[in-house]
Amino acid sequence: MKKTIRDFNLNEKKVIIRVDFNVPIKDSIIQDDNRIKQSLKTINYAIDNGAKVILMSHLGRIKEEKDKIKNTLEPVALRLSELLGKEVIFVTETRGKILEDEINNLQSRQVLLMENTRFEDLNGELESSNDKELSKYWASLGDIFINDAFATSHRNHASNVGIASLLPSGIGFLIEKEINVLSEVLENPKRPFNVILGGAKVKDKIGVIKNLVNIADHILIGGGMAYTFLKASSLPIGKSLVDMESIPFCKEMLEKYSDKIILPIDSINAKEIKEDVKTTECFISDIKEDDIGLDIGYGTTKIFKEYLLESKTVVWNGTVGYSEIDLFAKGTKALCEVLKDIDATKIIGGGDTASAITNLGYSDYMTYISTGGGASLEYLEGKKLPGIEVISDKDEK
Ligand code: AMP
Repeated sequence: MKKTIRDFNLNEKKVIIRVDFNVPIKDSIIQDDNRIKQSLKTINYAIDNGAKVILMSHLGRIKEEKDKIKNTLEPVALRLSELLGKEVIFVTETRGKILEDEINNLQSRQVLLMENTRFEDLNGELESSNDKELSKYWASLGDIFINDAFATSHRNHASNVGIASLLPSGIGFLIEKEINVLSEVLENPKRPFNVILGGAKVKDKIGVIKNLVNIADHILIGGGMAYTFLKASSLPIGKSLVDMESIPFCKEMLEKYSDKIILPIDSINAKEIKEDVKTTECFISDIKEDDIGLDIGYGTTKIFKEYLLESKTVVWNGTVGYSEIDLFAKGTKALCEVLKDIDATKIIGGGDTASAITNLGYSDYMTYISTGGGASLEYLEGKKLPGIEVISDKDEK
C-alpha cells in the first residue's frame, strides 16, 4: 500500500504537489477546466491542514523557445484562484532566486504555482529525461512530495519520479481513486465483466488485450482496430484502417479466444472520411474494395447491446467509430445509451473515449472516467506505473 497525503503531518511544511494542469488552452482561454477541478480535493486538503502549498505541473510540449508563450501556466493560476477562492502566487520561473524567495516567504495555507515544468525541456529535456540535478534541485524546495498527476504517472520525469525518490512521498486523492477503481477491475471485478475496445490501432491495445482477455468475460471490439481483426479472419475490409504488423497477433488471439473476442458483423462505410459524405451499411462480407469502414452497424450494435445489458462491470477504451464526425458516432452513441441505463460499474479509459462520451453528453452516467488515457491503459495492461511505484510504502519510515 502506498502512503497517501493523509499519512503526513502537513502543518507548516513545504508540500510540493505534482498536479495535472495539462488543460487545453486557446488564445489564453482554458477550453476545459476539468483537470484543474479534479485536483482541488488534494490542494484543499493540504491548505486545510496548514501546508505551504507548492504546485507543479507540465502543460503541452516545449520543443523551442516560442512554445513557451502558448504553454504558460498563467491562465491556470487565474482559474485555480477562482476555484479555490483564494490567491494563487504564480511564479514565472522553474528555478532560481525569484522562485526560491517566493517559496521561502510562503506562509502556512498559502498556494504557489510554479511555471510549466516542461520549460526545463529546452535545456536538453531535463524534465522529461528525469535529470538527476534538476530532480535534486526541485526536491530541495520542499519537505514532502505528493503525486496527484495520474495522467503522467506512466512517465519517468523529474517532476514526479525524480522528486519522489528524494523526499518523503505520498499519493493524492485523485491517484488514490484511480488506483482503487482500476485495481478493483483487475483483481475483483463484478461479473459478467465485459470490455469494449475501439480506437484506431491494434498495436496500441495489444498489451491491454493480452491482459484483459484473461480477466474479462468478453472483449467487444469495434472502431478502426476491428478491421485488422476482420482481415486476420480473411474477411474483406476494403480501404478500412489496417495495421498489417498486428495481423499475426490478431490471428493468435482469435484462435485462442474465439469465444471471448466478439467482432463486428456489419459496418457503416463511406468512400472518404468527411462530413456529409454518402454512407452505406452492409455485412462485413459485403464490404466493397473502395469502402472505408467507419462505424459499427445495426447488427453489431444489437449484439454488443446484449452483452452490455447483462454486464456488472464494463471497461471502455476507444470509440467504436470515427466519432469526431457525427455520421460515424452513431455506434458509440448507441452504446452510451445502453450503458446509461444499466446497473453496473462503468469505467471509461481517459483520452479520446472520455472526450467523445463527454461531447455526446453521457459522462454523468458513467461510474468513473479516468483522467489519464495512456496511464489507465498501461495500468489495465498490468504494468507498474513509475510515478506511483516510486512513492513510499505505508510501512516505510
Ligand atoms: P485511440 O486513441 O486509439 O483510442 O483512437 C481514437 C481514434 O480512433 C479516434 O480519433 C477515432 O476517430 C479513431 N477511429 C475510430 N474508429 C475508426 C475507424 N473505423 N477508422 C478510422 N479511425 C477510427
